[in-house]
Amino acid sequence: MSLPAADQSLADGVRRRERRALAKAITLLESTRPDHRARADALLNDLLPATGGAVRLGISGVPGVGKSTFIEALGLHLIGQGHRVAVLAVDPSSSVSGGSILGDKTRMEQLSVREEAFIRPSPASGTLGGVAEKTREVLLLCEAAGFDVVIVETVGVGQSETAVAGMTDLFVLLQLPHAGDDLQAIKKGVMELADLVVINKADVDPAAATRAQAQITSALRLFSQQGNPAHAAAAAVMQASALKSEGITAFWALVLRHVQARRDAGSFEARRRRQALDWLWDIVRGRLLADFRTHPAVREALPAALADVAAARTAPSAAARALLNLFETNNA
Ligand code: GDP
Repeated sequence: MSLPAADQSLADGVRRRERRALAKAITLLESTRPDHRARADALLNDLLPATGGAVRLGISGVPGVGKSTFIEALGLHLIGQGHRVAVLAVDPSSSVSGGSILGDKTRMEQLSVREEAFIRPSPASGTLGGVAEKTREVLLLCEAAGFDVVIVETVGVGQSETAVAGMTDLFVLLQLPHAGDDLQAIKKGVMELADLVVINKADVDPAAATRAQAQITSALRLFSQQGNPAHAAAAAVMQASALKSEGITAFWALVLRHVQARRDAGSFEARRRRQALDWLWDIVRGRLLADFRTHPAVREALPAALADVAAARTAPSAAARALLNLFETNNA
């Protein structure tokens, strides 16, 4: 399928690494207009052969742990090595409050002025699912525009980590030196998503950082022994000081080692294939569920059906089938 001339030149501009073309392409795919959506889909398909070349890194951690400081230090280090770095954000707060945890302050001042860097705040509207979907698409655009490291940042408040781990090759969790003292932090499901854990701000309290490193290392070893398939090998834990740019070189070496080990084992490409298929099903599931919920007959019957199931007056399976019948009959 060939693109209309204007979109063809947009795609060519992205491939030629023109920032304006990249920004315009992002605007197009963030648009909610159906005709824009169709053009954005065609554009993405056209650019797809130029994608896939980046190391995709997810980075999470609670507000204040040092994410932007770390990403800036890492980004500048990578640019120094000749890389081009895109930083995207998935901010779950923007879809809830309209405000944002990640975007309010001026962040990454040194990195943002570099020609070799591209920093994009979180899409502001929609559900977390919607925000994540846009971010996945922007990630592909950035790859087509020649960024060979894409960092997707999120805040440590739950679901958004799963979404970011689902679109990146490696998921990195930043922790504070005292996190190891708090076993809750280790038990949380988020820790199980982590491929790498970085104890940041090690300069503040080196002894606590070393303690945290040991505690988290043994907790992660436990996860891997319990057969979590994501942790066939236990995640690596290291210390850093983003503020002093210490540990950044070692961090990147660790990332490359992980990537290489997975490529050798075939699991790198397997993870990407799985993510691509999950992405397809996410969208299908999301659309079907939205259609179901907004279907007039379903909407009318839903409150009573939910109340009946909650009060054990109707079997959940029977209620679900009755609702689906309403949906399908009126949809035929
Ligand atoms: P974010 O909310 O996770 O993005 O955290 P920021 O990067 O904004 O950092 C929060 C504060 O911690 C800032 O004042 C940083 O200067 C400081 N900070 C970040 N990394 C370090 C570090 O490694 N050591 C010290 N001492 N302070 C740090």
